[in-house]
Amino acid sequence: MYDKYSMKAEEFISDEEIKSTLQFAEENKNNLKLVDSILEKAKQRKGLSHRDASVLLACEDEEKIKEMYALAEQIKKDFYGNRIVMFAPLYLSNYCVNGCVYCPYHLKNKHIARKKLTQEEIVHEVTALQDMGHKRLAIESGEDPVNNPIEYILESIKTIYSIKHKNGAIRRVNVNIAATTVENYRKLHEAGIGTYILFQETYHKESYEKLHPTGPKHNYAYHTEAMDRAMEGGIDDVGLGVLFGLELYKYEFAGLLMHAEHLEAVHGVGPHTISVPRIKRADDIDPSAFDNGIDDDTFAKICACIRLAVPYTGMIISTRESKAVREKVIRLGVSQISGGSKTSVGGYYEPEPEDERSEQFDVSDNRTLDEVVHWLMDIGYIPSFCTACYREGRTGDRFMSLCKSGQIQNCCHPNALMTLKEYLIDYASPETRKVGEALIQRELSNIPKEKVRKIAEDNLVKIEQGIRDFRF
Ligand code: SF4
Ligand code: SF4
Repeated sequence: MYDKYSMKAEEFISDEEIKSTLQFAEENKNNLKLVDSILEKAKQRKGLSHRDASVLLACEDEEKIKEMYALAEQIKKDFYGNRIVMFAPLYLSNYCVNGCVYCPYHLKNKHIARKKLTQEEIVHEVTALQDMGHKRLAIESGEDPVNNPIEYILESIKTIYSIKHKNGAIRRVNVNIAATTVENYRKLHEAGIGTYILFQETYHKESYEKLHPTGPKHNYAYHTEAMDRAMEGGIDDVGLGVLFGLELYKYEFAGLLMHAEHLEAVHGVGPHTISVPRIKRADDIDPSAFDNGIDDDTFAKICACIRLAVPYTGMIISTRESKAVREKVIRLGVSQISGGSKTSVGGYYEPEPEDERSEQFDVSDNRTLDEVVHWLMDIGYIPSFCTACYREGRTGDRFMSLCKSGQIQNCCHPNALMTLKEYLIDYASPETRKVGEALIQRELSNIPKEKVRKIAEDNLVKIEQGIRDFRF
């Protein structure tokens, strides 16, 4: 039975409820009166239920889809302005005991190079990332209690935060590791992580069990209930995601929103972020072996509908997607993107030898961070290296209430300009710097509060003088 307050995976992600939602959506996809009333609700910027949002996703009326996109774009502007937060993944280890059939790190893949970064190698990788200009990392690791125990992850986080190279620093470490115990989540929380990210992969239990035939990840309930344990362990900010292409996208979409509703109902705070990866080619993996791949238009529609359903939840897209797709979905709702990424274990410090490749998936956007930053500014966005919130204690429900009231903008905008300024001075190419300096000057006038504008202007001067790390 469906119950969003239940702590049991099969009840808060009820298969029955998803199927009945999809049936309702299918029956009403051309009910334009209903679609209009849902769009009216979305305009209030308080989000949509999984049922309402599923009707929008199913709707095939061209005009209504255009309205959806326009509204998603407007909501994106209202909540996130024209800022895009930058991050990079850092793969610590690809040792893994699981059998996920869509991932090249699965245990039975004997021909991929297995690597685990030593603390010394982490120093090299993080120094290289700092030299690119990154301030925010998402660390990734396979599940392997012998090779990658929690102690290794904790030690690595400590190492990452300790590296101060020139003006560089990693100020926020988000963590994407396998579902674990409350006790381990507590340790991660104490280590000062930002968001704990765990992709559900698929909410369809039967498919989930087939796609994860072996290893601890096979346990659907343990995996699906991980965010509840993370929150119990003190982690305020959690990031959801599904791997689109594994199951029917409408099913995943409803499941994803039900998961968000469950977190909000039980913990009083929904997901901090939602990631929208699509299955990609990789060593030992052929995406065409999966029947549920989605085209770029459907992908854009999913992003727009997520934006309408959870306006205050950040949306993340990686370099799995091409420049063209990224440009489209940034407009519709994505608020955070990676740049200059390597999806191998190591590779930032020096390229991997051809015969020792360890990537998790092929990257579609191969541009450098400087090229991505320049491109974002050219198409009207402010690349932001801001990491202020969790460092100022703005996490969980405190963050969400600032977000829902729109007040967070008073921090995000000047923080974006100040962190961009740091980037321009310390890392940008001369062309990028020129474009960026002009952009900062233009954008300063968009800070509505005079007092805040004055402080930001003063700080920008101080950044020129060599002082770093200002934040609101
Ligand atoms: S998806 Fe994660 S758990 Fe599964 S094989 Fe890959 S690294 Fe291991
Ligand atoms: S102020 Fe907070 S919400 Fe805004 S960009 Fe910075 S970290 Fe993100």
